[in-house]
Amino acid sequence: MATGGQTADGVARRGLMFVLSSPSGAGKTTLSRMLMAAVPDLQMSVSATTRAKRPGEAEGRDYWFVDKAKFEAMVERGELLEWATVFDNRYGTPRAPVEAALSAGRDVLFDIDWQGTQQLREKAGADVVSVFILPPSAADLERRLHTRAQDSDEVIRGRMDRASHELSHWAEYDYIVVNQNVDAAFAEVQSILKAERLKRARRVGLTEFVRNLQRQLEK
Ligand code: 5GP
Repeated sequence: MATGGQTADGVARRGLMFVLSSPSGAGKTTLSRMLMAAVPDLQMSVSATTRAKRPGEAEGRDYWFVDKAKFEAMVERGELLEWATVFDNRYGTPRAPVEAALSAGRDVLFDIDWQGTQQLREKAGADVVSVFILPPSAADLERRLHTRAQDSDEVIRGRMDRASHELSHWAEYDYIVVNQNVDAAFAEVQSILKAERLKRARRVGLTEFVRNLQRQLEK
């Protein structure tokens, strides 16, 4: 899918699809924001959703908020790379920005659930690096959902009920991070991304780079 782009060390590489999943409230939105602020050559995939906007959320930054008809039209036209129904709402990943980023050698960060991750793995296996974030305890998860203060008690109850089911997908992910402490979890997630960027298979410019080195050595 990706052809590669320039990097600081001069070796062109393919971009990768960096997926963070977790039950709601395990801290993945905070971790995503920290990554976006700290890591160069990384862009966030902004999903389309039919759910209502929460206080503090912005159109085009957190989501593209669309109605059901618009969402269906995007599916029909093949504009979504993956989509899923979560909590009775539909969520999907617009395809075009992801393809443009990958072929320019930029990475894309996804905050999507296990259903979306499965679809991405099927469609773009080698480009996908997936991380599952676990909360340290159920009490911690509930506390974070309440602190967020964006949802009603009923919605929070629903999210807690779903958490156990979502957790059962942990073994489908490449990496597991327990978010006991947000700074430690952030350091771990950042290490994963740094190491994955260095994988030989993604560094499509290596053959040329080494050939140049050899030419210089043989002069
Ligand atoms: P929330 O409504 O709390 O923003 O998100 C609910 C769930 O939907 C989260 O688990 C989030 O990761 C997931 N989600 C958000 N966008 C997408 C998407 O484009 N595709 C899929 N499959 N899941 C998504």
